[in-house]
Amino acid sequence: SYRKGGYHAVRIGDPFAAGRYVAQRKLGWGQFSTVWLSYDTRSANYVALKIQKSAAQFAQAALHEIELLSAIANGDPSNSKCVVHLIDHFKHTGPNGQHPCMVLEFLGDSLLRLIKYNRYRVLDLSKVRKICRCILTALDYLHRELGIIHTDLKPENILLVSTINPAKDPVRSGLSPVLERPEGNPNGAVTVNINEIKLKRKAKRALAKIASRRDSMGGVLSPKPEKSLDGINLRCKIVDFGNACWADKQFAEEIQTRQYRAPEVILQSGYSYSADMWSFACIAVELATGEMLFTPKGGQGFSEDEDHLALMMELLGKMPRKIAIGGTRSKDYFDRHGDLKRIRRLKFWPLDRLLVEKYKFSESDACEFSEFLCPLFDFAPEKRPTAQQCLQHPWMNQGNSPHKEPVEENLDVGMSNLQIKAAK
Ligand code: ATP
Ligand code: MG
Ligand code: MG
Repeated sequence: SYRKGGYHAVRIGDPFAAGRYVAQRKLGWGQFSTVWLSYDTRSANYVALKIQKSAAQFAQAALHEIELLSAIANGDPSNSKCVVHLIDHFKHTGPNGQHPCMVLEFLGDSLLRLIKYNRYRVLDLSKVRKICRCILTALDYLHRELGIIHTDLKPENILLVSTINPAKDPVRSGLSPVLERPEGNPNGAVTVNINEIKLKRKAKRALAKIASRRDSMGGVLSPKPEKSLDGINLRCKIVDFGNACWADKQFAEEIQTRQYRAPEVILQSGYSYSADMWSFACIAVELATGEMLFTPKGGQGFSEDEDHLALMMELLGKMPRKIAIGGTRSKDYFDRHGDLKRIRRLKFWPLDRLLVEKYKFSESDACEFSEFLCPLFDFAPEKRPTAQQCLQHPWMNQGNSPHKEPVEENLDVGMSNLQIKAAK
């Protein structure tokens, strides 16, 4: 991928935007870009620099992402809506072409890492609630105020925020800025490559363990799982608007990552903001149980899609016939009675029972949590509650003390405690 039209090769100490930003280390990568922790010499802060591949379709996608991120930042000048903030953008020309670059506030580990860090075990519901509040705040803002559908909500696209600012607290963060390429190394390549090889080996080992899951950090950091998550500041923000769209200007029919995909997307019966709400509910369950809710697999004579629909019905009950047969692709999966064509016997296991029997929730926790979630898992997208309605739900407001927690002052760049511990 490091060729014409592909990624831009970065070395530690490389300057960007006429020297304003200096690359520090790789934070992650995706299909479209590599993301680098960079030092902003103007503001004396750390930022995340997302450097897009240069080929026309990637550059085009970046412009779209920048358009959405600009609207998000403009509508939220105080940066309090739990969505990643775009600080700057520019183009960088390198041997592989011209790369659109986005300068984003620097965030911490993803929720996927949090789940791993918690060793795929159940997570305290008060922590789940805190994370849910952030996600819902973000979704309410995106949906109601901006008209944006994220379309790819999943744990790896939600990053933790910390109140520790590494630029102001280098000791606790374990970071001090590199302002130029390391010495004794004219092109800077050797040191970085050795590190990269080590990191790649480390990443391979980590990935082999959890082969079915994609770790967006690529195993760059693999902290030893700790006994408890106490003291970890659980605020988070939504990132990765590469697939997001304006609700009135949709361009893709197939959206969302498999496990978080809503039934109307599989059936192709049209989607809206409520598709994000489905993904949100899947994430909430996953946080609470430590395991993905739906992990469909294709089998003999049936597809992954049909298995997915079957899993949904086992949890939520039969899909109403009208909905089942109402999509462009309905005929691939359902007969005219609204029964699955190839998967006949369904084993019903409702959410509250699953939480009690498989994950050992107390009856009351399971009952309250599934009362909150079940409306979100409605097969009829228009019946799902909005993010705003979810924020008002009793489950979201349980255990609220009469006086509110003080609003965290430092909303700038930060590093999550997980990263800090890992860096030590
Ligand atoms: P995808 O294939 O998921 O669409 P992408 O090329 O659009 O990937 P992102 O998902 O935006 O890239 O970023 C890739 C990874 O970089 C993220 O999963 C995350 O680990 C890291 N990352 C992205 N933005 C930030 C940020 N603001 N702060 C810290 N790390 C970040
Ligand atoms: Mg991503
Ligand atoms: Mg993306």
